[in-house]
Amino acid sequence: MAKIDTRCVHAGYHPGRGESRQIPIVQSTTFKYETSDQMGRLFDLEDSGYFYTRLQNPTSDAVAARIADLEGGVGAVLTSSGQAANMFAVLNICRAGDHIVSANNIYGGTFNLFGVTLKSLGIDVTFVSHEATEAELDAAFRPETKLLFGETISNPGVEVLDIELFAKVAHRHGVPLVVDNTFATPVLCRPFEWGADIVTHSTTKYMDGHGVSVGGALVDSGNFPWTRYAEKFPGLTTPDASYHGLTYTERFGKAAFITKAVTHLMRDMGSTQSPQNAFYINLGLQTLHLRIRRHSESALQVARWLEKHPAVAWVHYSGLPGDRFHALQQKYLPEGCCGVMAFGLKGGRAFDNRFLDALKLITIETHVADCYTCVLHPASHTHRQLSDEQLRAAGVAPDLIRLSIGLEDPQDIIQDLSDALDAAR
Ligand SMILES: *Cc1c(COP(=O)(O)O)cnc(C)c1O
Repeated sequence: MAKIDTRCVHAGYHPGRGESRQIPIVQSTTFKYETSDQMGRLFDLEDSGYFYTRLQNPTSDAVAARIADLEGGVGAVLTSSGQAANMFAVLNICRAGDHIVSANNIYGGTFNLFGVTLKSLGIDVTFVSHEATEAELDAAFRPETKLLFGETISNPGVEVLDIELFAKVAHRHGVPLVVDNTFATPVLCRPFEWGADIVTHSTTKYMDGHGVSVGGALVDSGNFPWTRYAEKFPGLTTPDASYHGLTYTERFGKAAFITKAVTHLMRDMGSTQSPQNAFYINLGLQTLHLRIRRHSESALQVARWLEKHPAVAWVHYSGLPGDRFHALQQKYLPEGCCGVMAFGLKGGRAFDNRFLDALKLITIETHVADCYTCVLHPASHTHRQLSDEQLRAAGVAPDLIRLSIGLEDPQDIIQDLSDALDAAR
């Protein structure tokens, strides 16, 4: 198999003679057939083919195939956002009365999705520490638990997940491990190689990389043995009445999970990625390997500089040799650990705000992981309704500043930080 840099450019799309060199935008809601029987067979899933862009579209499929290839999976589907990808990962196997176990340091949006919205639909969640021991993880499982969830590099805490340990525990309980691999991207870490079964992405971040389109992806390794635990996963292993009694694991084998996500969830919930947005993500994917390494190198330089600055209280970046997660970074992300870091200043809340206001090149944004260097102070912005105590319980230090290093020259980024720290004094 070709190396990952080559696959970023080519995987999933191989045009024939006279065909479009770049993945074309197929801006069409529907597709034409010649006979009634041809169309009927599509609806019975007897034949594969395009019929309506809510379910499948050639542009989105080519981009999904590229992401599946990069992750080493059997298939993928693009979703309208990262939130939709995580929702689909759960709803594809869970129903009311089921339960999931999740690391507690996950992205705030996913934390709410699991803790509030899915709970209100009857799917219960137990949050566990991402640093839980095997015994602590075991204790969170129940007979009705259907999956374990974590993030390769957590947002905003930038902590590295022990994927192999989480996979071992999930498999001991006969359930898949779902990993949100947004910050790492498959260039830096491929969770399937460490035992994860399902991967999700917010493609809005590094995959797009230019801040142009919101999107997500759900990827299936094809490795989870659904039929071995058939009684836990009836949606995959028993007949689906909405497709004339078809059973996904019988008909689609290793691709059962991802096929159900498309033919069932996408059909019914319609969190579709537009072909235009899929096209933009593809442009990002074709330089992902170059960008993510540069983001990581620049971030390490900036983190090293911050660590030595007298106004800086602490820096969390797993690439730093003294970081709490450095050993896990060395194991899972040896080529780099992305452009996002977290740090705290010594001067208190007023100093923090003077510093943020004094930044010139670096902008204040509720976004991360694209070509622009940006900062966010969760206690003043995304989490401003919480008290310091509530912040700590949510795993966000009150003084935490999240810094996402873009593709500018790292010396210019450091200069801007330096000037702003001086101005804040
Ligand atoms: C941004 C993000 C999401 C949500 O993705 P959207 O595309 O904004 O819906 C989920 N997980 C992680 C780790 C994220 O950073």
